[in-house]
This record gives sequence, structure tokens and C-alpha cells, in this order.
Amino acid sequence: MLVAMAGLVVWLSGQAVLCAVKPFGKCRRCQGTGEVERFGKPRTCPRCHGHRLRLRLGRRAHNSWRRTYDNGAR
Ligand SMILES: [Zn+2]
Repeated sequence: MLVAMAGLVVWLSGQAVLCAVKPFGKCRRCQGTGEVERFGKPRTCPRCHGHRLRLRLGRRAHNSWRRTYDNGAR
């Protein structure tokens, strides 16, 4: 149990550092190519709209929290 909790803490801090240093990750739908194959033809990825990147979950949560905090602290 202690090992699992320590692992979770390590993983969470790793994610926090990653979100701070590199907020964008590769799009998971198109694996960072910006295109998906549909009906035998390459199409623009509907998830990232061809930008090839996505905002990491932790960064999205942080931005959302920041926005809410700033709106409330006026
Ligand atoms: Zn994509």
C-alpha cells in the first residue's frame, strides 16, 4: 500500500513537471500526424483539426482552475 501511494505521488509530480515544462503532447487520435485515414482517404484529424498537438490533461485542469480563480478574485 505504501509503495503504491509512493508510486502515485512520484507519477503525479512527474505529470505536474511535464505539464509545466511541455504543456502540449502528441494528439492521440492521429499519433501526431494531423491526418487520419477514413473511407480509404487521408482526412484532417477531427480531434486536433490538423494541429497535431493536444493540451495535456493536467495543464487543461490548471488553466481551468486559473481562469476560475482569476474571475473570482476581482
Ligand atoms: Zn490529431
